[in-house]
Amino acid sequence: SIRVRFAPSPTGMFHVGGARSALFNWVMAKQSGGTLVLRIEDTDASRNKPEWTEGIIRALAWLGIDGEEYEGPYFQSANADRHREAATRLREQGRAYYCDCTREDVVARADGQSRGYDGYCRDRGLEPGPGRALRFRTPDEGQTAVVDLLRGKPEFDNAVLEDFVIARGDGSVTFLLANAVDDISQGITHVVRGEEHLPNAPKQQLLWEALGAEPPVWAHVPVIVNEKRQKLSKRRDKVALEDYRAEGYLAEAMRNYLMLLGWAPSGDREIVPWDEIVEEFRIEDVNTSPAFFDVKKLRAFNGEYIRALSADEFAAACLPFLEDAPFEVDPAVFAELAPLAQTRVGVLAEIVPMVDFAFLDEPAFDEASWTKAMKGPAAEILAAAEEAYRDAPWETDELKTRLEQVGAAHGLKLGKAQAPVRVAVTGRTVGLPLFESLEILGRERTLARIAAARA
Ligand code: GLU
Repeated sequence: SIRVRFAPSPTGMFHVGGARSALFNWVMAKQSGGTLVLRIEDTDASRNKPEWTEGIIRALAWLGIDGEEYEGPYFQSANADRHREAATRLREQGRAYYCDCTREDVVARADGQSRGYDGYCRDRGLEPGPGRALRFRTPDEGQTAVVDLLRGKPEFDNAVLEDFVIARGDGSVTFLLANAVDDISQGITHVVRGEEHLPNAPKQQLLWEALGAEPPVWAHVPVIVNEKRQKLSKRRDKVALEDYRAEGYLAEAMRNYLMLLGWAPSGDREIVPWDEIVEEFRIEDVNTSPAFFDVKKLRAFNGEYIRALSADEFAAACLPFLEDAPFEVDPAVFAELAPLAQTRVGVLAEIVPMVDFAFLDEPAFDEASWTKAMKGPAAEILAAAEEAYRDAPWETDELKTRLEQVGAAHGLKLGKAQAPVRVAVTGRTVGLPLFESLEILGRERTLARIAAARA
């Protein structure tokens, strides 16, 4: 069985791209009864923060990455001794050498070309010393071929693989080495990660071999882009998983959607039960072209998942949003409103402005809605509606019929006639079906609000 890992660096909010990699790994582990190892690559103390590590752990749990096939979290910083030992061993074997070139030296000798390090210190036999980096000696000839499940067997010319740094002048070990050492010691068989790491694969494979390990199978999954085909970036795009969660995306919808970034289930389906995704997913079928992160589509997915909840599940999912709202919810009233809302919300946070009218003493008036609705014959409509509703049997159909009649008397279709009433009672031009809402709100409050809007 396989051992895969997810190895994020806690240098920022946890990203949808990271979540996608974690899920691909997770599904591979589940399919084979293997293991997913979470390894927090926390060696860059200047960029790491504990809250980002916590964010990663929380997000993975939210996505359902947990249980038997999950192992961790491990922290890369705990393996520092092992990293240093590996660096020493490579040096003793002659696979690495000390170098005292500054960045400026390297750039100057590259002579304006984008070649990397030129091997200047290879045969100088430098001893360790302050400011001296340790470089890995890459082969001069031949190719390094990596097995990548998405890309066949890409070959990299060794002649263009520079002698890269494995330990810096201050003794700290670089990502390339620490990551390979940890993967080896944690028994990783498949490295599944973002495409931006593909250029690292040949270097790391050389390290695996030099350290006496059988290299892993690689899979570099495609970049994720926005609607302008730009790589998703935290400056430009909404990428933090936490933000989606806070808006009321369901973990199930998110999980389903993220799995489609580079992969497609059979039979033109998109919304697919998790168990079937786990059964059907093949990492080999992930394609290499950039995957478009389509927020509109994600939202549509979320709507579908919300519709599929039972009434109780929906109410429970809304609860955290209502708890943060500036009003007290009457559970009996909410139970009546919830079915109307469940078919209409795209994200759960929308529940609050949809139902607030029923719990606030006065509706929260939206200025633009008010201006739009309270013009033309609005005042007369409100007066006539108040009159027509005073003695109406208080139920949806009757309330609708009466307002239709009011509208007809003013030459207005129901849609137009209902706008001022809706704004008077709910504060907005859009929302839950009006007459059901009025029935739930009750005669007294409805009439009081219409009267207040006329004043
Ligand atoms: N810490 C690296 C990153 O977050 C890990 C890359 C890898 O998966 O090997 O980009």
